[in-house]
Amino acid sequence: MYLKTLTLRGFKSFASATALRFEPGITCVVGPNGSGKSNVVDALAWVMGEHSAKSLRGGKMEDVIFAGTSSRPPLGRAEVTLTIDNSDGALPIDYTEVTISRLMFRSGQSEYAINGDTCRLLDIQELLSDSGIGREMHVIVGQGQLDQVLHAGPEERRAFIEEAAGVLKHRKRKEKALRKLDAMQANLTRVQDLATELR
Ligand code: ATP
Repeated sequence: MYLKTLTLRGFKSFASATALRFEPGITCVVGPNGSGKSNVVDALAWVMGEHSAKSLRGGKMEDVIFAGTSSRPPLGRAEVTLTIDNSDGALPIDYTEVTISRLMFRSGQSEYAINGDTCRLLDIQELLSDSGIGREMHVIVGQGQLDQVLHAGPEERRAFIEEAAGVLKHRKRKEKALRKLDAMQANLTRVQDLATELR
């Protein structure tokens, strides 16, 4: 499995559709200061579901949409598509190539798709969760983040280890199951109240 292409349109400084093609192995992105290298990394995190504007180096999520320049008006939407080569079947889906897309409007509404089919963010998270990539995996190490890891307290360090061990997915499922259980308990209490009233 490897990242094959990343297409940006209206995302940060990439107003026009821009496709980046990667090969297996190491890729270096080089360019002058302010040319958009970090924006490429932001796009990767964003398409995998990042929803913290701060992590994307902005003040609000809308800041990911092209804000315009002196020669070009602002755009109303940002779109990023990531194509992953899945010929080794690392992702649990019957496709040798998988595309993940995210589209966002200025209203803040986001739409996600897997291979062109609209889906929930949760579907993307589940698809990527065993692959070692994904928004909540520490696969994107930003400037200054190594310091954060080295100075992490015991709780934070434990969270890093849990992610590396793949516990995160099960923790999320457990939290979801507990929420359902709570709702079920509330319903049960309500039914018992009604039964008491009817006696
Ligand atoms: P450095 O080497 O200095 O770290 P870089 O190549 O990583 O720079 P980026 O931080 O990716 O550069 O890009 C910064 C550029 O992106 C700035 O010129 C900034 O104006 C532009 N930019 C960021 N957000 C937007 C936006 N929403 N609309 C238009 N341009 C944007």
